[in-house]
Amino acid sequence: MNKYILAIDAGTTSSRAILFDKNAEPIEIAQYEFNQIFPKEGWVEHDALEIWNTQLKAVRDVINNSKIDPIQIDSIGITNQRETTVIWNKKTGKPVFNAIVWQDRRTADFCDQLKKNNKTELIQNKTGLVIDAYFSGTKIKWILDNDPLIRSQANSGELLFGTIDTWLIWNLTNGKSHITDPSNASRTLLYNIKEDGWDDELLSLFDIPKNILPKVVDSSSTSAHIDDKFFGVKIPISGIAGDQQAALFGQLCTEQGDIKNTYGTGCFCMMNTGKTFVKSKNKMLSTIAWRIDGEVTYALEGSVFVAGALIQWLRDKLGIIKNASEVENLAKSVDSNGGITFIPALSGLAAPYWDPYAQGTIFGITRGTENGHIARAALESIALRTRDIIIEMEKDAGIKFSSLKVDGGASNNDLLMQIQSNLLNTNVIRPKTTETTALGVAFLAGLATGFWKDIPSLKNLWIKDRSFQPNKETDTDKIVELWIKRINNLLKINE
Ligand code: ADP
Repeated sequence: MNKYILAIDAGTTSSRAILFDKNAEPIEIAQYEFNQIFPKEGWVEHDALEIWNTQLKAVRDVINNSKIDPIQIDSIGITNQRETTVIWNKKTGKPVFNAIVWQDRRTADFCDQLKKNNKTELIQNKTGLVIDAYFSGTKIKWILDNDPLIRSQANSGELLFGTIDTWLIWNLTNGKSHITDPSNASRTLLYNIKEDGWDDELLSLFDIPKNILPKVVDSSSTSAHIDDKFFGVKIPISGIAGDQQAALFGQLCTEQGDIKNTYGTGCFCMMNTGKTFVKSKNKMLSTIAWRIDGEVTYALEGSVFVAGALIQWLRDKLGIIKNASEVENLAKSVDSNGGITFIPALSGLAAPYWDPYAQGTIFGITRGTENGHIARAALESIALRTRDIIIEMEKDAGIKFSSLKVDGGASNNDLLMQIQSNLLNTNVIRPKTTETTALGVAFLAGLATGFWKDIPSLKNLWIKDRSFQPNKETDTDKIVELWIKRINNLLKINE
């Protein structure tokens, strides 16, 4: 009887389930988009129950459509949009507030206060993070402060906090397991990544009671079982990792110095720094990549909040394309950006600028500007933001990267990948499976149960689709020169 690993990939815009066979081939996939809620400028929420319902539906679809018996599922791995914060009542299972999404900027003022109170150093030393509304800590505090009843329920132990991994596992285990892994915990601003544990000093700084926090288990270990009420059998949950760390593992960036960039809603560039916590001097984040057999591996990360989301904006708000993949042909309809620079600061600017107040801006519009120029400049902006980050990461690592492994929905765009290669003057390598996030957590689950023997044996399963070499004949220098000038102008306006 063939066995499979089921990966649950709880993304920012959709709930996905993917079944992988022993060759790491995705043999069945189901996906449901869910609502993005924008109650006010800068606020982004999700309905946590909708995430749970769509996720369960995706898992059921994958099992039904592939016609496997649930008993053939060796184990489940769960990967998720990180930082997004859910607080729920442990008796009723109902969230006390919508999930506050990682992109949400409502706590930017509180972050400013923390910076003014000189907490930057303390927080970076303990958590590896910069002070920013992006992370869960200030979002948890906001929910508790927003309603005295919620605060008192939290203090008296009636509520639980979780990122989306924790929320889904709690539901899948019918309320039995309240757990997360260090890759997710290290994005909360409450986790000491040197000591690998929740930090009392930070909890008191954010005024968050410890009893709402989940237990932190290894990223690759059987730490819970799905309740048999769902599929008739208790299926082990053996892998948990935040989406970007899972993608790092799925790209088999398991050695120190290995690097990948994921082009999803945002762009997330991550480098494995091995057993050492490297503190960035260039506004990158230090984070836990995973913990296996009790041993922590660290990573450096640079984030861009808006990447594929910019393409969604072209589709949904500007209406110049009908679906995301059309952007490639539209951008190819012109042979340059026509002097346009698109600063994709639709949710502020993350690394290395960390300006929550920056707004999206299009520079250089003339009467000759066409939709094609806007589309091309939008693709360039994704690659330019990645370039901003990689330059700083190279400084932290003290090396020039010779190649970049890529994945995520927008990495299927050949033009974008070619532009990226030109702008970095580096080979860009795309694997056959761009579902690297799901694959990574499937690997973590399968290693825990012995479905796959060890990391070296996984190397044969990683297959290249295509690589892109830099094309020297393009006007790369001019694009970069305008970008630097214009982004600095934008940052000055906000000062
Ligand atoms: P996430 O996991 O963050 O939800 P995905 O990895 O599924 O994201 O990628 C989806 C994102 O990629 C969307 O924002 C979409 O606009 C963008 N995208 C998908 N296909 C393309 C394409 N061919 N060109 C550019 N962007 C694309």
